[in-house]
Amino acid sequence: MKTSRFHVIPLPSAIADAARRAVNAGAADHELITVDSPESSPCRHCLRWAQPGERVILFPYAAIPSGHPYSETGPIFVHADNCQRYTAPNEYPADFRNGRVVRAYDSNYNIVDAQVVDGSEPEVVIESLFEKPDTAFVDVRSVTHGCFTFRVQRA
Ligand SMILES: [Zn+2]
Repeated sequence: MKTSRFHVIPLPSAIADAARRAVNAGAADHELITVDSPESSPCRHCLRWAQPGERVILFPYAAIPSGHPYSETGPIFVHADNCQRYTAPNEYPADFRNGRVVRAYDSNYNIVDAQVVDGSEPEVVIESLFEKPDTAFVDVRSVTHGCFTFRVQRA
């Protein structure tokens, strides 16, 4: 489903590239992993599941910056090899329609609301959260692991 009402924001390429440099430099908090099962390692840059046999980097990312009550740094994956940043900001990523929780935040990074999208249309859930006047952006996360998957902003 295409929507003109919000934009999907994949991880910036500069952050993916920095993670690739850090793992090559042996950073202790960056781990190189070969994926061994499908739908286990979502790449935040191309917004696809990494396939078994592909290599990913696991590293901590501050989805909500420090200095706020809801500050949150958590583990995310990106492909270890170059991948194309997600190019369809008007389309909800097909690989992540299930098993996600959507959290709405205000402009001070405080949580406004949160809803699980399992079994429902994520576009409908996201648009309902943007109908709240305080919602500045929405983060999509794994409902089981809690990890940040991608951000959504108003169009
Ligand atoms: Zn990727």
